[in-house]
Amino acid sequence: MLEIEQLSKTFQIHILEGKVIQALKNVSFQVAAGEFLGISGPSGIGKSTLLKCIYQTYLSNGGRILYDSRRWGRIDLAQAAHQVILELRQTEIGYVSQFLQVLPRVSALDLVAEPLLLKNGLPRGEARKMAAGFLERLFIPANLFGAYPVTFSGGEQQRLNLARAVIWKPRLLLLDEPTASLDQQTIGIVVDILKELKEQGTTLIGIFHHDDLMTSIMDRVYPLSREN
Ligand code: ADP
Ligand code: MG
Repeated sequence: MLEIEQLSKTFQIHILEGKVIQALKNVSFQVAAGEFLGISGPSGIGKSTLLKCIYQTYLSNGGRILYDSRRWGRIDLAQAAHQVILELRQTEIGYVSQFLQVLPRVSALDLVAEPLLLKNGLPRGEARKMAAGFLERLFIPANLFGAYPVTFSGGEQQRLNLARAVIWKPRLLLLDEPTASLDQQTIGIVVDILKELKEQGTTLIGIFHHDDLMTSIMDRVYPLSREN
């Protein structure tokens, strides 16, 4: 489903007189449809940068990111027009980081229901019901459903973020340490949710720092090293 060939990404740091940082150098790997690939490696090695290049949050400097899209067949995500990327984000590719992008004055329940309305076209009542089920499962107390997530704890925000990313069942899901501030019991639930998603056909690429529970459901781990 995804074939990464010789991917490179450099950053030019203007405040350091244009010093160039090579975050990724000639990274190549493949991911089959329905596979769960882990990305490992020490802090600062380029794991987040890699996911951001796939999602085109960052434009890469060299190499190809060949993706078998449902809509257009095989396309290079490194070169695809922004409009194409936006549509893929709307219909096929999901991304979740450890930080919640909070929308002002949207309740927790609506935040999680929103992808079902916008991406899957579900009626509001049904979307809210599904969202409530997800929140309950992730131990978000019902009295918080109507509250604004800006005031939530880090762990609560992280769970909302995850719920929002998985509820619409993307075809490819990119996960950047989404369990970083969760306790073991909640991580166990997240593992179950991702396992179900995988069984339903979603391809997953994820970074999970020191997370043995998650490793147990991964098919393979790709280690990023100084070589790339
Ligand atoms: P990891 O996720 O493996 O900890 P990152 O991908 O976040 O590592 O970062 C890899 C390297 O790229 C680091 O040296 C980091 O400082 C640099 N980097 C990442 N994003 C940017 C950016 N937007 N601007 C400049 N440098 C960046
Ligand atoms: Mg990172």
